[in-house]
Amino acid sequence: MQSQQVLKQYFGYDKFRPMQAEIIQNVLEKKDCLVLMPTGGGKSITFQIPALMSDGITIVVSPLISLMKDQVESLIANGISAAYYNSSQTMSQLKTTENKILYNKIKLLYVSPEKLVSKSFYYTLKNIKLNLFAIDEAHCISQWGHDFRPEYTKLKFLKKYFSKIPIIALTATADKITARDIIKQLCLNKPKQFIASFDRPNLSLTVVPGQKRIQKIIYFIKQRLGQSGIIYCLSRKSTESVARSLINSGINASYYHAGLPSRKRSEIQEEFIKDNMQITCATIAFGMGIDKSNIRWVIHYNMPQNIENYYQQIGRAGRDGMNSDTLMFYSFSDVIVYRKFIEEGANIEIEKAKLKRIQEYAEAQTCRRKILLSYFGEHLEDNCNNCDVCKNPPAQFDGTVIAQKALSAIYRLKEKVGINMLIDVLRGSQRNDIIRQGYNKIKTYAAGKNISFADWQQLILQLLNQGFIEIAYDRNHVLQLTDASKDVLFNKRKVSLVKTSEQERIKDIRKKKSKKTISRKQQLYNELFNKLISLRKKMADYYKIPAYAIFTDSVLDDMTKYRPTNETELSNISGVSEYKRKKYGKYFCREVLKFLKENLEDSSRLKGSTHVITYALFEEGKSIEEIAKIRGLKITTIYSHIANSYSNGKNIDINRIMPDNEMSRIKLAIKSMGTKEGLKILYDYMNGEISYGKIRFGIEYYKKNKK
Ligand code: ADP
Ligand code: MG
Ligand code: ZN
Repeated sequence: MQSQQVLKQYFGYDKFRPMQAEIIQNVLEKKDCLVLMPTGGGKSITFQIPALMSDGITIVVSPLISLMKDQVESLIANGISAAYYNSSQTMSQLKTTENKILYNKIKLLYVSPEKLVSKSFYYTLKNIKLNLFAIDEAHCISQWGHDFRPEYTKLKFLKKYFSKIPIIALTATADKITARDIIKQLCLNKPKQFIASFDRPNLSLTVVPGQKRIQKIIYFIKQRLGQSGIIYCLSRKSTESVARSLINSGINASYYHAGLPSRKRSEIQEEFIKDNMQITCATIAFGMGIDKSNIRWVIHYNMPQNIENYYQQIGRAGRDGMNSDTLMFYSFSDVIVYRKFIEEGANIEIEKAKLKRIQEYAEAQTCRRKILLSYFGEHLEDNCNNCDVCKNPPAQFDGTVIAQKALSAIYRLKEKVGINMLIDVLRGSQRNDIIRQGYNKIKTYAAGKNISFADWQQLILQLLNQGFIEIAYDRNHVLQLTDASKDVLFNKRKVSLVKTSEQERIKDIRKKKSKKTISRKQQLYNELFNKLISLRKKMADYYKIPAYAIFTDSVLDDMTKYRPTNETELSNISGVSEYKRKKYGKYFCREVLKFLKENLEDSSRLKGSTHVITYALFEEGKSIEEIAKIRGLKITTIYSHIANSYSNGKNIDINRIMPDNEMSRIKLAIKSMGTKEGLKILYDYMNGEISYGKIRFGIEYYKKNKK
């Protein structure tokens, strides 16, 4: 079988994504390789398909037990024999798996690195036919990577003891040092490197200022009710407080952090994976171990420390390829927290530089995706149109006067205050300490009281970015002037700023959304989609697997759009493997049909479904005349629907359409006149005694029963 056929049969997909076919070819030729592809890019298939196409076992090394479980479940859900082998299992479970391996009953075995390097397992390995080693999350081998695991470094032994078996190493970490390190440490033999694009166009990118976060989050979630999402927070405490705030406003959410007992953590993870809990507020510890494909959004309550982390975390959304949203809150206080972390750690200069890059991203006034991809060394030609900057381009204005006010205040406050104090002075606050220090006496006191606090924060950030202000990190983060700012104050230098009014923007969005009433067509879509979602959930609970392992969201989306009512139609949908079609297909087709019947009056809106509805009524025992009446259609039309269904393979009892003698007459007419000249000739041949509708059906019947 060709790899493309395997893709269709076992995974239900029609086409490879970029690079997948080349990687598979390389692996089938038994060559080593290194695959760099973003999270959700589709790395797994590149070793799973060769595993299915070859004799022997493919060993997959994976760093986390939950990740193994997830992947093995997904494989089994596609009818592929896979198992895992790790320290979470009992002796007898391990023994069972070992026997299966020895009897060649398993195609893919997921193993933790510590089990793989154990002595006892070594003998097992020596006694079986090996096909391939796949090292997933291979960056874990490198101290340069962001997730170093010492156990991974022992994997060196693979090349030493199994030099003939090819290795494929896979990671979503793109940086070159890590890649080189992976190759060196695994002793890969002249590996070809496959570097896929890191673009994930289905993820929308939005960054908003960090004020009123909870309010904004609630608004965001209310527009996405029923969807699954993660809110990443910097501290354990805030995971709890954010979850609590959500619960208080009627949104169910859980929280997850490393301080919880491990039983509790796996429980939360399990609930999230199984769609029993749609929202989890978590520290970055969460998510690494899950491949849940229907995460529809990711929020960063705090800015992540660098772009790698950010990209990996948002990458957990939309693995199924469906549109998904990401939202990051940005506030300067996060930067200050990180700077403290960094100063206390190693690699100070590198980490600072990385922090600066994500700050630049957060503050960007140009297409954010371009900035992200350029970080990974890729160049995006056009603006993406799927980030907040593209969708809502910032308007420039002459900000010279505003800049003069702020800079002059910094000057008059003798460069001794931080951002918040500066803004309070500009806004004429009556705070005690302002009065006490006599700050209310300076010339620019209250010179900016018509601008909101939040807007001032944004404006000062812009001045910072443009180099008109500097922060003295070593002196309590006070604001300082620069040479450029002196030009503004004393040499009439002009300053261009960008409009900020965040409040206005949110109001705008609200207005737009509430005005737009959804169309009947959209309503019907939502109705069917939700029905399929609940059917999927029921089946998932029955089979005790995650819902997305039954069918992904994108499969349900296609089902809603194309409304398959039989298995043949179902097999045209991308993501429906043969195994799943046989196992679940009829339930989904039945649900679609039921929906179509319930929405007869909307059948004209449900394109393509009209003969399906006719057939459904016919199947219920209604006569042709009754159906025509119910549907308000002509009798001939109903006959031709029935003829259509019949030629599409539906069972039709001919006796319900016409008596035997009429069918004989039609047959005779066809034999004498043929069918090429159209219905009229046949109609005339029978003196107009048999209706067009019956003739139409008779032709189909004749064609099918000729032999
Ligand atoms: P990664 O390991 O790179 O993060 P996965 O291997 O988990 O990504 O794949 C992400 C999703 O993409 C999965 O749901 C997978 O089934 C899907 N996928 C992979 N290859 C294809 C393809 N050729 N067509 C459609 N979907 C695909
Ligand atoms: Mg993966
Ligand atoms: Zn953009």
